[in-house]
Amino acid sequence: MKWVLSIKSTIAPLLVLFLISCATVPYTGRNQLILISPSEELALGEKVSREILQKEPVCHDPSYTIPVRRVGARIARAANRPDYRWEFHVIDKPKVVNAFCLPGGKIFVYTGIFKYISSDAELATVISHEVGHALARHGAERMSLALLAQLGEIAGAAAMNLQTQEALRAFDSAYGLVTNVGFLLPYSRTQEYEADHIGLILMALAGYDPHAALTFWEKMAQESKGKTPIEFLSTHPLDQKRIARIRALLPEAMRYYHPQR
Ligand SMILES: [Zn+2]
Repeated sequence: MKWVLSIKSTIAPLLVLFLISCATVPYTGRNQLILISPSEELALGEKVSREILQKEPVCHDPSYTIPVRRVGARIARAANRPDYRWEFHVIDKPKVVNAFCLPGGKIFVYTGIFKYISSDAELATVISHEVGHALARHGAERMSLALLAQLGEIAGAAAMNLQTQEALRAFDSAYGLVTNVGFLLPYSRTQEYEADHIGLILMALAGYDPHAALTFWEKMAQESKGKTPIEFLSTHPLDQKRIARIRALLPEAMRYYHPQR
């Protein structure tokens, strides 16, 4: 029964992969399935970061770059992950209200978001949220879910008498495809709330009052009533629940807070 063999040889390594792929999110303790190794994740982050720095107008104005690096360095210290290669860049696009992170610790902040930032603590809200995504490996988790969907199709193909070699080739190309585009997928609500949660703790650990998250998100909520689309809100959907959740997490975050000297 050739097809039984095919399935076995295709699925068995995947099962092993599965068993060794459970990760736990720091601070929230949620279990997650990640099929991408930390070193692959880091390499991918490096590659995409280089591409962005070549394509996008990088900002060298110290009135933006100095606060971003100052706050970024404190948050990175609080994150306590020396294996990450943290970088904090500013993109000079005054009309773009956005910030994002790449796997492994590359954070990008657009000049447009500074319209809504009036203190280091509010800037820390944005940066620590993005660092939260990186620490919780949310990009890799999205990629893994996309990969899993592809694997489902491949297992189906194997069951339909696809040769093992073909199945493995299909796996290879699906893996390449997913790892190239998977990080572009939007985060889920769960991941968004989780990045808020981790971000509040990190900003407190770094000496920024986590209450600044409320003033920042309330400004965003005010702005979302206007007609101009805000990119940050398309990837970080804002509803009443989000602000209420941040408020509910503040007592926990305050336990980590020691005002900066
Ligand atoms: Zn986010």
